[in-house]
Amino acid sequence: MMQGLKQFFKSLFMLELMKGLSITGKHLFARKFTLYYPEEKAPISPRFRGLHALRRYPNGEERCIACKLCEAVCPALAITIESEQRDDGTRRTTRYDIDLTKCIFCGFCEESCPVDSIVETGIYEYHGEEHGDLYMTKEKLLEIGDKYEKDIAAARAADASYR
Ligand code: SF4
Ligand code: SF4
Repeated sequence: MMQGLKQFFKSLFMLELMKGLSITGKHLFARKFTLYYPEEKAPISPRFRGLHALRRYPNGEERCIACKLCEAVCPALAITIESEQRDDGTRRTTRYDIDLTKCIFCGFCEESCPVDSIVETGIYEYHGEEHGDLYMTKEKLLEIGDKYEKDIAAARAADASYR
């Protein structure tokens, strides 16, 4: 009975509507937070996991030793590696692919890598227009690594936990 009366007066005086309008009114004059992307960019967390890259040592040698830990740990089965032994006895990949359409950006590959070779950068502005654009080959991954090595090294030096 009481509940019914309450409901009746609430409807009669349009209390719910007034409550809603007061919230709208509050936001009408509040400071606006519009970000004019892509001219303006929001800060991203140092732990953000974006586009993958394969890194090299300063002498140009690939870091990856084809141990395949990243391939084994990848829950999405997005990594495919083939390898062979070089004449000098070292082992290197002949194929290192990541299918970004399968990847869930969990970061396990990066965490498992013993030589800090495969990393996830802070890059999030990329897209694919054709089938295969998001299929990252070793060449593409090394190219990203070469291009952003300075940023990657600085980010990792600044936050050792970002591994
Ligand atoms: S981020 Fe995760 S899902 Fe993506 S390639 Fe690495 S291990 Fe696989
Ligand atoms: S990227 Fe790292 S974990 Fe993956 S195969 Fe190469 S060395 Fe091993």
